[in-house]
Amino acid sequence: MTTVRVVVGGAVFDQGRLLAARRSAPPELAGRWELPGGKLEAGESAEQALVRELREELGVEVEPLERIAGEWPLRPPYVLQVWTARLVDGEARPLQDHDELRWLTPDRVDEVDWLDQDRPAVAAAARLLAGT
Ligand code: C5P
Repeated sequence: MTTVRVVVGGAVFDQGRLLAARRSAPPELAGRWELPGGKLEAGESAEQALVRELREELGVEVEPLERIAGEWPLRPPYVLQVWTARLVDGEARPLQDHDELRWLTPDRVDEVDWLDQDRPAVAAAARLLAGT
């Protein structure tokens, strides 16, 4: 039996908008948009991994808020979990893994081509942002 390994994605909110990040690699994911994040390292909680990944990938400090209910399968053994997070400091810029960022209002989240596995969490995050 293989234990699942968690990839944490961040639904980062700032000023009523959600952050979308376009992947630059690997080739099969490049050009698709995701909630930025990455794999948990040994001994890390999901919240700790999210803070570290967003610091590394985007140069920002975030505060994780709450987990979005659900868990979505990726390439085994990975599963995606998503947390909402508040931007605390810094201006997001694509330092690693991404080549473009966009801040989307909840009515416009469908304007980018999200990775399929991110779509349920994006919809939930947009509902939270819209207060519906
Ligand atoms: O960013 P990183 O390469 O560490 O992410 C590991 C894997 O998790 C990626 O290959 C990608 O398939 C997946 N992922 C995802 N949705 C996200 C973040 C990562 O599907 N929001």
